[in-house]
Amino acid sequence: MRIVGIEGTAWAASAALYDTETDEVHIESDPYQPDSGGLHPREAAEHMGSAIPSVVSTILDRADETADGPGLDVDAVAFSQGPGLGPCLRIVGTAARSLAGTLSVPLVGVNHMVAHLEIGRHRSGFDSPVCLNASGANAHLLGYHDGRYRILGETMDTGVGNAIDKFTRHLDWSHPGGPKVEQRAREGEYYDLPYVVKGMDFSFSGIMSAAKDAVDDGVPVEDVCAGLQETIFAMLTEVAERALSLTGTDELVLGGGVGQNDRLRAMLASMCEQRGADFHAPEPRFLRDNAGMIAVLGAKMYAAGDTVSIPESAVDPDFRPDEVPVTWRGDAES
Ligand code: ATP
Repeated sequence: MRIVGIEGTAWAASAALYDTETDEVHIESDPYQPDSGGLHPREAAEHMGSAIPSVVSTILDRADETADGPGLDVDAVAFSQGPGLGPCLRIVGTAARSLAGTLSVPLVGVNHMVAHLEIGRHRSGFDSPVCLNASGANAHLLGYHDGRYRILGETMDTGVGNAIDKFTRHLDWSHPGGPKVEQRAREGEYYDLPYVVKGMDFSFSGIMSAAKDAVDDGVPVEDVCAGLQETIFAMLTEVAERALSLTGTDELVLGGGVGQNDRLRAMLASMCEQRGADFHAPEPRFLRDNAGMIAVLGAKMYAAGDTVSIPESAVDPDFRPDEVPVTWRGDAES
């Protein structure tokens, strides 16, 4: 089976071709890079409007070159239905509907956050992991129970990457801020910042204000970056451990663009090692937003008969992962 995936929830205009026979995922992405400041929804949508046709066209050329027999040999088109920026999602939805119509194949609507989890489950071979989604616009822990991925804990304010990016905007650093904080933190000494975990939930807004104030008060920026990473990632590691303990699961997967951070991965790996759990972080191309994860989950959903009609294919900027009936797992209840 071969599935085309299309992703464009925020900054990455991306298309992919996934072949279930070979397990090969070919991804073509074109990132939106703001000239200054953070992501502007209108500019991001303008980027999607010009970049989605070209990444899709490259993937269709690839499908043509590798087709087994006449035609493109594509079985379905999967697209990110939400959550994300409405103007971007609408462009992706329109592209996916028209491509599925042109190829006369079914359409699969994929929840972007469930795709971040499922790519980790797929690549690790884990059965039923807890997932820490540490992405730009989100931060939550997901665990499977009774036919759905339940949100066990989540941020009470901003997503983790967005919180870091807000701090770096204060410093006039270009977007995205996460990799720059990671680099500067290597040269710094730990600086104490507020640590906010409430049960399984957590908050970043107080830490960000304290970090901005510290820099304004003359604390070396490297030290604030080191304190920021240690504090935020310790909070995420604490709640991830609590989720493992609560569910009795001994498998943890990481999802989302912040998962590219070496220090976060090291802290999670160390925690898992200490409690005898297995940890898996997918390779970076599957952590940041990408259409490969949409195509891989799309293939599982298509195989389970979980497709959408055109009227059901409306995008949803607030599409939560626990709204998705999990149809594609062998143990899932219908
Ligand atoms: P979502 O998946 O919730 O829609 P998103 O679309 O913003 O989020 P992602 O690709 O998951 O995108 O993550 C992007 C975020 O990852 C940005 O906030 C960026 O600063 C952060 N990031 C990227 N690399 C690193 C790194 N090395 N360390 C920390 N953060 C990073």
